[in-house]
Amino acid sequence: MISIPVEYVEYLYILSVACFALSLKWMSEVRTSRFGNLAAVVGMLVAVGATLAAYQIQRIDLVALGVLVGAVIGTPIGLKVPMTAVPQRTAMSHAFGSLAVALVGVAEYYNHVPSIDIFTMAVLGGEMVLGFLTFTGSCIAFSKLQGLIPGKPYIYRGRNLVSIAILGSAIALAVYLAIDPSQQMALLVMIPLALLFGFNLIMGIGGADMPTAIAILNSFAGMSAAALGFILNNQVLIVAGALDGSSGFILAVIMSQAMNRSFTNILFGSVGKAVEGQQSAQAGRVIQQYTVEDVATVLDGARFVIIVPGYGMGVAQAQFVVKELADLLQTAGADVKFAIHPVAGRMPGHMNVLLAEANVPYDQLWEMEKINPLFPQADVAIVVGANDVTNPAARNRTSSPLYGMPILDVDKAKTIVFIKRSTRPGFAGVDNDLFYLPNTMMVFGDAKQVLTDLVAQVKKHIG
Ligand code: NDP
Repeated sequence: MISIPVEYVEYLYILSVACFALSLKWMSEVRTSRFGNLAAVVGMLVAVGATLAAYQIQRIDLVALGVLVGAVIGTPIGLKVPMTAVPQRTAMSHAFGSLAVALVGVAEYYNHVPSIDIFTMAVLGGEMVLGFLTFTGSCIAFSKLQGLIPGKPYIYRGRNLVSIAILGSAIALAVYLAIDPSQQMALLVMIPLALLFGFNLIMGIGGADMPTAIAILNSFAGMSAAALGFILNNQVLIVAGALDGSSGFILAVIMSQAMNRSFTNILFGSVGKAVEGQQSAQAGRVIQQYTVEDVATVLDGARFVIIVPGYGMGVAQAQFVVKELADLLQTAGADVKFAIHPVAGRMPGHMNVLLAEANVPYDQLWEMEKINPLFPQADVAIVVGANDVTNPAARNRTSSPLYGMPILDVDKAKTIVFIKRSTRPGFAGVDNDLFYLPNTMMVFGDAKQVLTDLVAQVKKHIG
């Protein structure tokens, strides 16, 4: 194996950190995001390679085994996981990453106890609390997103008090350990408390708040890795963890602003209280079901069409046929724009990625704030597998778990075409008032199939 002097490793770490910083910069734009991904891969390879080459490793066989197990499990996951399942895959990465960090922290504790200075023990305590709570929190987020457990928030009387008491006790034990690291019993109680806090925290989150919660967990995982970097005196881990922690935090802030929620509201609010009340909204209301022929007739005279993509477009992989329809309508003289909601789909930027894959030009993608004033002028709004992000309950029903989230003002368009398979609710589990509006045309079916048929009909109309 190649071996390099330890003093040179610092230069390689600087190179790796530069790659991480560039990666974040490039990933913030669709145009440069592929380079961003590549830079992150290079940065990680340099960091891991430099560490392995510079430090003496006692059991290289164990390292090789770890790499093998990771590659055997990770490669098929990376290749096979569909885009729609990326959020739960991300939650799982956070879970394993934070568990690894927390367990290395435990190993460091047992390696050095009782001769650990107060500063190191304080950082170690914080690192373990963050790591373990992120682990259970991320496992619950994964289970909810994967549908293994119900996605709605589990709220009970006094939940906030319980949360604060659990976290407070874990922190108190970490402080106790910092003062007297030899108290191993305190560690054994602190760890389950941190695990329990993560569980309680994410069980209480549901509906539209899950994306922000995942960003917060991302931030916790990064902070915990940065803290471990201090313990191990490893600069690249400090910087990479800090970048991860701060970017996760910034993303959480941006997303909570997009959802019109504050952090405290997400973590300690009683979101989802009235979900049950929502379900009855469907009773006695009339839905108007139409065919693709009817829609083609309406589109025939349309001058301005807004397409609203959502999670269902991703599930159906309908982005290519959506682009075909948009091109056709433009050829027929209509102005076509795409309305992009910040949390449409199941990950930040989900719709941008799908539409970029189908080569929809960037200037046709309109962000929520810019497109909303244009809905009243739209002849037709075509909703493709979106639901929560169009639900007017977010505006006017205080009891709704979506209340307060800014939505796309689809209801203001002259005609609404809603393409989905049924009247089932979306991620937040809330009935959508839009289905029942007199100017809504519901077209039931798989988005790709419906749009393929619609394209054929529109072609006939255009002649
Ligand atoms: P929703 O989850 O609200 O609705 C998606 C709709 O797509 C469903 O109602 C479903 O209806 C329909 N659908 C599913 N498969 C198909 C198909 N093959 N063809 C046609 N329709 C289909 O999605 P939105 O994008 O509107 O909203 C995103 C939601 O996800 C928000 O609540 C957001 O908070 C949450 N979220 C977002 C994340 C992010 O980072 N963007 C991460 C995690 C959660 P039917 O079954 O009847 O077909």
